[in-house]
Amino acid sequence: MRTIGLIGGMSWESSAEYYRLLNQEVRARLGGQHNAESLMFTVDFAEIEALQRAGDWSAAGERLVAAALALERGGAELIALCTNTMHLVADRIEEAVAVPFVHLVDATADRVKAAGLDRVGLLATRFTMEMGFYRERMAAHGVEVVVPPEADRETVHDVIYGELTVGVVREESRAAYRRVMTGLAERGCEGIIYGCTEITLLVNASDSPVPVFDSTRLHAERLAELALA
Ligand code: GLU
Repeated sequence: MRTIGLIGGMSWESSAEYYRLLNQEVRARLGGQHNAESLMFTVDFAEIEALQRAGDWSAAGERLVAAALALERGGAELIALCTNTMHLVADRIEEAVAVPFVHLVDATADRVKAAGLDRVGLLATRFTMEMGFYRERMAAHGVEVVVPPEADRETVHDVIYGELTVGVVREESRAAYRRVMTGLAERGCEGIIYGCTEITLLVNASDSPVPVFDSTRLHAERLAELALA
């Protein structure tokens, strides 16, 4: 089994989900007392979030490269970044490490394609929904990503930063997310990507009128598969 290195902390709540899902997946495949062999480097998300707000992606990327290198020195044989948004700097991490970097967007896109869908809605941070890096990588897999209208993007983003990444879950926000997903389905989306690693803290598959692709679960499943390959 290969050792998985996780760059976590964005937020720690979603990193805890990764940890649980990875270990569940390895136990489901190997049985008994098997765990996933893993290391996690938790960054201080307050630092990263301030850099995101300032638009200083270069400094944020540097911080994550340092975390990836520390994981590699610690014995990680695969590296994963436990957030969609910071995949904006995924290329820098991939270039800096000698071991394989397991890209979250690829893991998600493969499952969308395997389900036979090619037009899906995206719920994510404003950065992920608007900055192009996510949409372009999905398009390279043949998946068209549709984002909610401006006012809904603001709602989705504000719930992530104001609530989910600080451990707050509100019924009103669940209702708002349901409404946004209904809007996307009405615009022809055949599925919805939960493209932010905290989203399943708020909503699950039964809150969506169309099939859901949860990036955290799909990424964790891909990591377990590769670690055992
Ligand atoms: N975890 C979130 C994501 O998957 C948002 C927090 C962040 O900016 O990393 O995009």
